[in-house]
Amino acid sequence: MAEKDLMDKLVSLCKRRGFIFQSSEIYGGTGSVWDYGPLGIELKKNIKDRWWSAMVHQRDDIEGLDAAILMHPKVWEASGHVEGFTDPLVECKHCKHRYRQDQLEEAQCGRKPSVRPGEHPDCDLSEPRLFNLMFRTFMGPVEDAAHQIYLRPETAQGIYVNFLNVQGAARQKVPFGIAQIGKAFRNEITPGNFIFRTREFEQAEMQFFVEPGTDEEWFEYWMEARWKWHVSLGIREEKLRFEEHGPNELAHYAKKAFDIEYEFSFGWKEFEGIHNRTDFDLSRHQEYSGRRLQYIDTGSGKRFIPYVIETSVGVDRTLLVVLADAYHEEEVEGEERVVLRLQPSLAPTKVAVFPLVKKDGLPEIAEKLHRELRAAAVPSFYDASGSIGRRYRRQDEAGTPWCVTVDGQTNEDGTVTIRDRDSLAQIREPLEGVLPWIRERL
Ligand code: ATP
Repeated sequence: MAEKDLMDKLVSLCKRRGFIFQSSEIYGGTGSVWDYGPLGIELKKNIKDRWWSAMVHQRDDIEGLDAAILMHPKVWEASGHVEGFTDPLVECKHCKHRYRQDQLEEAQCGRKPSVRPGEHPDCDLSEPRLFNLMFRTFMGPVEDAAHQIYLRPETAQGIYVNFLNVQGAARQKVPFGIAQIGKAFRNEITPGNFIFRTREFEQAEMQFFVEPGTDEEWFEYWMEARWKWHVSLGIREEKLRFEEHGPNELAHYAKKAFDIEYEFSFGWKEFEGIHNRTDFDLSRHQEYSGRRLQYIDTGSGKRFIPYVIETSVGVDRTLLVVLADAYHEEEVEGEERVVLRLQPSLAPTKVAVFPLVKKDGLPEIAEKLHRELRAAAVPSFYDASGSIGRRYRRQDEAGTPWCVTVDGQTNEDGTVTIRDRDSLAQIREPLEGVLPWIRERL
């Protein structure tokens, strides 16, 4: 398969099977935001649940939070976003296309996509100017500067301003963390590559508060833990790598930063950042709010502003990694099949149930099994339409790990076939054995 068109194939599979649709498609779409359909929302939820389980439920030292998207505007002054959350923008005075100056090497000229901006004889690129990526709006009915607020460009600040609330209420001691999953908004100059870079997206962020001096150890710890989490989703390890930020790439708040990158068809790209943010954020909020944000260790009586190790992963980008990694094309009995080899725990539908034919009582038996699976909270899909081969193909594209077929033999001996998505092996199991068989494998 030519790697370069993998993204196009994913976009059309996602639409065909109901994973992801272009936002406002009937109006021509927006290009920079996407809607998750019936299968997409399940896949996304499964990824978020896995993150929440690893980061919150399985640990004593991390608490969850859901802070509001709209925050006091001073938050973004303190965080440095009003002043510094900018990208260098250049505009072609001729065709009016806009580009990020630091991404010109990867961009296509608006008039002639085969060359870079600036390489076409008509290109006339402006000097770069700094463009702030925060979306602005107004709180209340008066639209003036005093009522201007921002849509949050990251979830982290909601955690910092609640640091003492959570620490006190949950009676946590440093080191401990606060985790949050939520929407973030960035007015990106050049969104693109499907859901890789959008203007509205979800982040899963965890801020781990540690005593200064222990931050480097904890940084190493979180690098390893986050790597293992991605591998636990079934992502091929050879497609993952760490990339350290050089001194010129470090964000204003960071002492050290590593990205976890995936090798997409359009190159190695970041989808998680691990940052040592020092005491920058808490110190700045202390300064701007006038409220003490110190931690007092009740045992030793020590007072300090904790350092923060942040792990920040894009939910949508992780979903794109999972899809890109699971997408396979192969030939089966002379026919091409497209299959999403999703890990069963991530697959939106766990099992599809088919009657082989629409007679001899087979649909009734199949529907009963389907209802039993659903009642046992196993996402099941019933399908009686089209040839059995087509029904299998649809489920392969949806990433459904198992298909159960009720056939003539079911009426004789009460068994059904279970077909495995990846090996294509088919085994016979008694009807009542299907649920335990699937549970065991989930
Ligand atoms: P990039 O360099 O790609 O713009 P970033 O370094 O600005 O990303 P962070 O601020 O570290 O990204 O955000 C953490 C994570 O949030 C990223 O690793 C990514 O998964 C996700 N993310 C950031 N911006 C976007 C976006 N515009 N669309 C989708 N996900 C995003």
